[in-house]
Amino acid sequence: MNRARTVAELRTALAGVPRPVALVPTMGALHDGHLALIRRARELGATVVVSIFVNPTQFAAGEDLAAYPRDPESDGRLAAEAGADLLFAPSAEEVYPGGFDTAIDVRGVAAELEGDPHRRGPEHFRGVATVVAKLFNMVGPDIAVFGQKDAQQALVIRQLVRDLDFPVRIEVHPTVRDADGLALSSRNRYLNAAERERALALSRALRTAEELVAGGETEAERLLEAAGAELDRAGIVPEYLELRSAADLVPVERLAGETLLCLAARVGPARLIDNVVLRPATEPALHTRPLTGAAT
Ligand code: AMP
Repeated sequence: MNRARTVAELRTALAGVPRPVALVPTMGALHDGHLALIRRARELGATVVVSIFVNPTQFAAGEDLAAYPRDPESDGRLAAEAGADLLFAPSAEEVYPGGFDTAIDVRGVAAELEGDPHRRGPEHFRGVATVVAKLFNMVGPDIAVFGQKDAQQALVIRQLVRDLDFPVRIEVHPTVRDADGLALSSRNRYLNAAERERALALSRALRTAEELVAGGETEAERLLEAAGAELDRAGIVPEYLELRSAADLVPVERLAGETLLCLAARVGPARLIDNVVLRPATEPALHTRPLTGAAT
């Protein structure tokens, strides 16, 4: 696996490589969720680039930028094992040299949920959209792989790519979870054993709603009530727990198409997010079901 720290090194390393080029942008501290994305990129691309950059502009003042886990040695080994051809790990000065003065504002989907001024705020997705646009211009990928774990981020990136005509196909990979259901996240490293146990209520809450939907429930109020009760039992007060259209984040009162049940909650020192895509059960209406025992 090659490594590049500057845009010049990156361009040299990428000159003449076989296409398609598949990019997996990350902030490092790689875990199995990231590695699943890299393996997917390996399936889709002839050349796989993994970027590692803890992007300061997507952290609000008072967030965990300084504490964010960094593990460059393990990251290099894991990325290579998962099939990366090139690891791009630029410095903050390389990405934002003196005089840098541009930002990309995706509106609409970026203004909801995480982008709400009472939550992470508009700076968050401004930082994400700007750095992803820069990474796309630096790497010039044909494909970029993102995780459903950050469902809203994936929607913001799709909007960015559509609106600014980036010739990049966006692939979204399902959320990778630990065996007990906890969605993998670099921020899980902040949790001690008791907090990790409590954090399991997040995926339990999502699963509870999923099971209700499988049983035919479609009312947002009942789904949110049941999911909220799971959080409540663990003493977790969510920052948000909402049902939104998976296409455009419009609030949903009754499940119709693909619907995102998404939540954010603080558990100990960590702010965690998780989500699940709900689809209404496709049971045929009662009168069209074959009668039990009837010949077919
Ligand atoms: P991050 O390093 O947290 O910025 O994440 C980099 C990429 O990995 C993003 O596209 C995330 O959505 C994705 N990702 C993070 N955690 C998971 C997970 N548990 N499952 C799938 N993708 C993930």
